[in-house]
Amino acid sequence: MKAVVLEDQKVITYKDFPTPEPGPGHVRLNIKAISICGSDIKRYVDGHRMYPLILGHENSGIIDRVGDGVSRNYAGKHAAIIPLVPCFECEECKRGFYSACHSYSFIGSRQSGGFAEYVDLPERNVFILPDELPFEHAALIEPSTVARHMLALGDFRSGQTAIVLGAGSIGLMIVQWLRILGAEKIIVTDILDDNLQIASKVGAHVTLNPSKVDVAKEVKTLLGNGADLTLEATGVPHVLEQTISLTRPRGKIVLAGNQPLDQSLPLTFIENLMRRELSLIGCFMSYSAPFPGHEWTETLAALMNGSLDMDTLISHRFPLSKAPEVFEKIGAHQLAHQKIILSPEEVA
Ligand SMILES: [Zn+2]
Ligand SMILES: [Zn+2]
Repeated sequence: MKAVVLEDQKVITYKDFPTPEPGPGHVRLNIKAISICGSDIKRYVDGHRMYPLILGHENSGIIDRVGDGVSRNYAGKHAAIIPLVPCFECEECKRGFYSACHSYSFIGSRQSGGFAEYVDLPERNVFILPDELPFEHAALIEPSTVARHMLALGDFRSGQTAIVLGAGSIGLMIVQWLRILGAEKIIVTDILDDNLQIASKVGAHVTLNPSKVDVAKEVKTLLGNGADLTLEATGVPHVLEQTISLTRPRGKIVLAGNQPLDQSLPLTFIENLMRRELSLIGCFMSYSAPFPGHEWTETLAALMNGSLDMDTLISHRFPLSKAPEVFEKIGAHQLAHQKIILSPEEVA
């Protein structure tokens, strides 16, 4: 089969790779649509724990082969990849906190992913879909589940106010979930006006560009003491610091942006957090019991009833063979984008 293989830091190639055969309890997915995740780009730019590796965990396709002992009649079914492979045995797995599993694997990071024509998956790692769901919408289920999980962790309830910092792909998914779940006011910030325009289209009530306006001042005018829930999706240290002043006393802050590990913040940050009695909550992936969790079933339901808009989030489509070029351009900041869909079948 053809696959896109990360061979070293900033070395990615489109090449022949052995086609997987599903072993006992496994299935093989014939990939139809692939979405590029920011974490795929990060693995390319910063380097990764293992090479060679087929990247990719936001995928959909058709199950074309099943191994021995697969309990359900999966062949021919449409499915998306559920990328986390928890052990299901450890203490955290038994509590349903699969993201905290002590010995997990991850499709596209610790084992072969979906930037290929086929991927081998444990049967528990396929999320079965209705045939009528477009493959490129299905490829975006996983990032939607992360956004939905953030709102669950922040205990978001209808009628609350929220600020989303960063209108990249996770930020835009969060905006949609806030709209679907009945937010009273959704404020979105981003330094790119293009991103803010899309945010407005998918549900933001107010958009603020911090390079043009004083966000703290605007939020004070709009919400008084701040939002009930603030969602950090930029991974920028000073934005993280700002979450405190944007959140009302006893409010919640959920973090999804990966921060640079070589930087630090002054501890005035913590003092202000204490004074406001805020909850600062980390988010890692998107899972809850029963596996893979309500985040997944709710995303599918929202796709089927039309409330989740995936088309607006897709900025580019390329054949899989173009992936190395696309990674190079993104790595060199030469391709402004939202979600990019790759297809293993040449789209000409
Ligand atoms: Zn992802
Ligand atoms: Zn575990």
